[in-house]
Amino acid sequence: MSNILGELMGAIASGGVRIVDLTQTLDTDTPIIPLPEEWAGTKPFTLEEISRYDDRGPAWYWNNFACGEHTGTHFDAPVHWVTGKDYENNTTDTIEPERFIGPAFVIDVAGKVAEDSDFLLTPEYVQEWEKEHARIEADSWVLVRTDWGLRKGDDYLNLSEDGAHSPGFHPDCVPFLAQERDIKGVGVETVGTDAGQAFGFEPAFPCHTLMHGANKFGLASLTNLDKLPPTGSVVIAAPLKIIGGSGSPLRVLALVPGA
Ligand code: MN
Repeated sequence: MSNILGELMGAIASGGVRIVDLTQTLDTDTPIIPLPEEWAGTKPFTLEEISRYDDRGPAWYWNNFACGEHTGTHFDAPVHWVTGKDYENNTTDTIEPERFIGPAFVIDVAGKVAEDSDFLLTPEYVQEWEKEHARIEADSWVLVRTDWGLRKGDDYLNLSEDGAHSPGFHPDCVPFLAQERDIKGVGVETVGTDAGQAFGFEPAFPCHTLMHGANKFGLASLTNLDKLPPTGSVVIAAPLKIIGGSGSPLRVLALVPGA
């Protein structure tokens, strides 16, 4: 084994590098993104037992599962949005695998979100964060810690008569991250990468529209972002290799320097 990989394996074994799982468990009550009735919605996650060491299969246990590509902790590929449909290698099976791995910059807005469920991250907020921590690097993951992943039941979607109330990106923040910082993509703890009220923004769903329009990725329904340092970790987020896939549930792992 090469030195660098041997050192990495040794560091993982000794705790010098910790693995933090940023993934929510897929369950039949995993919340799915709510859409107005005129649009087709996604299947929830379902699990169907095939056999469990019984007369259906005496020595083996296995299940069928079904869900939409955008269920639970999942990856959004550029082809997911009409603005990203014409890029080359924009689907889960064709994205170059190197692109799934990158440094993570974790912006903590949990305090703001506790005061205002509709909090939007602005470019000014990000630039203040950069003064305190570090300038966001090109080809990095920008993860927004909101502590939304700690919410249970109805509090997670936080639906009202006028739609969902959950945090997201100000429309001005997405071009800033996509163009001026040229990031790989964003990751959030909410059910999707856009704010709950983003259907009414200009443009509508700015994170999907502008991030995928810039050939960037999204990660939704992350958790454990409170266990990451602001800078210095590496995130691996490789979706299932679904042919022509617009996204998929996935396991998102962060490599974090130990104590
Ligand atoms: Mn999605």
